[in-house]
Amino acid sequence: MNNIVLFGPPGAGKGTQSELLINKYKLVHISTGDLFRKHLSEGSELGKLAQGYMDEGHLVPDEVVIGMVEDKISSSNKSNGFIFDGFPRTVPQAIALDNLLENLNAPINAMLMLEVPQQELIDRLILRGKSSGRADDQNLEKINTRIKVYEEETLPVANYYREQGKLHPIEGIGSIQSIFERLQKALDNQ
Ligand code: AMP
Repeated sequence: MNNIVLFGPPGAGKGTQSELLINKYKLVHISTGDLFRKHLSEGSELGKLAQGYMDEGHLVPDEVVIGMVEDKISSSNKSNGFIFDGFPRTVPQAIALDNLLENLNAPINAMLMLEVPQQELIDRLILRGKSSGRADDQNLEKINTRIKVYEEETLPVANYYREQGKLHPIEGIGSIQSIFERLQKALDNQ
């Protein structure tokens, strides 16, 4: 089983690269942002709870996220493993994920961290906002909040995996294909 965390700031290309990795390694995709957006579009209680946080660019509380991921893991076909995209975003989420996976006897193998300069992130998110319709991509203030939240609340997660010897920094600029090749190389050389 190959369990991967795809990590990086908003706009780093996690969604795009996840699609390619899923196809190549036959993994189950768990994107907490996508799961929240699905709940939101269905008008579920969970979606209503998450909406305020998402619209402002803040993190949804850990217990809500962890419960949702637990449900998703237990209802998924686990044959080849999972790719976690946008999760974990806090150290308590990373600890909870390790505990969940310990029960399955299938720890995280690698944490791939996409690194992209800040101005490039902002340019990409503004561009994405024009076509995605995502409320949180629509203005500079919200984009800046999300980048700040990433730096203050999410970056410590990198140390958590570094201490476990699982962190692989990956240069996240260049063509989609060249970034994908760097990710594959990191995974294949583990
Ligand atoms: P994303 O699509 O990953 O950029 O996530 C969109 C929004 O969903 C984030 O700005 C948060 O409000 C919320 N969200 C997604 N994943 C998480 C997470 N792991 N922890 C807390 N909030 C999350």
